[in-house]
Amino acid sequence: MITLKIVLIGPPGAGKGTYASRLTSTLGVPHISTGDIVREEIKAQTKLGKMIKTYSDKGELIPDEIMIKLLAEKLRKPDCKNGFILDGFPRTIKQAEVFDRISKINLVINLNVPDYIIIQRLSNRLVCRRCGTIYNKLTLKPKRDNVCDKCDGELYQRKDDNPKVIQDRLNIYRKKTEPLIEYYKKKNLLKNVRCDDLKIPPEEIVEKIKTVINQFQKPSKP
Ligand code: ADP
Ligand code: ZN
Repeated sequence: MITLKIVLIGPPGAGKGTYASRLTSTLGVPHISTGDIVREEIKAQTKLGKMIKTYSDKGELIPDEIMIKLLAEKLRKPDCKNGFILDGFPRTIKQAEVFDRISKINLVINLNVPDYIIIQRLSNRLVCRRCGTIYNKLTLKPKRDNVCDKCDGELYQRKDDNPKVIQDRLNIYRKKTEPLIEYYKKKNLLKNVRCDDLKIPPEEIVEKIKTVINQFQKPSKP
């Protein structure tokens, strides 16, 4: 059994969560979202949760040491033993360097998405409070207003999905996370997937990503 350790990299709103959650069943490895880990910790109202909320609400990155510790705890669970699809991590060179010492990533998929798409997506994004499914008020509407198609849960707009915080998150992405593209290119792990048309349905991008993963999994010629 080969392990499949995949990182999805791309700006906030690139669709990392949407694609990763659709890939997880076909690939048989769990979707690990550090954004979800952060939100769970905040919801649990632990001391740490209260502390990291101050960063998350402003769209700022939480400190590397804390993020790495929270993620490492999650990856120790048995369901991650055959691999994972990581979404939202690493977000800084520091995180990537530390992670290289803990785990060996097989493939990094970079989602190229222009800013105007990101702003449209995030400012219209709705999330199910119960199961986390992502919708969009314009392009990926639920069947009933504010109700999840899958679980009847209530849909809500994330606190950091407002125009000011969206712009801040984008700026932080360009400054702190985008250098990782070069970092992984040098290690020969990077594959690009373009998503530059708002009308492309998510299934199509998921297929593109699967093609990239299949190419990686094909045994190389002797
Ligand atoms: P986005 O939609 O902006 O990609 P996420 O859901 O991935 O947002 O993350 C939400 C928030 O959680 C981030 O704004 C940040 O505060 C925190 N966070 C998530 N992943 C990381 C990380 N790898 N390093 C630092 N902070 C993180
Ligand atoms: Zn739901």
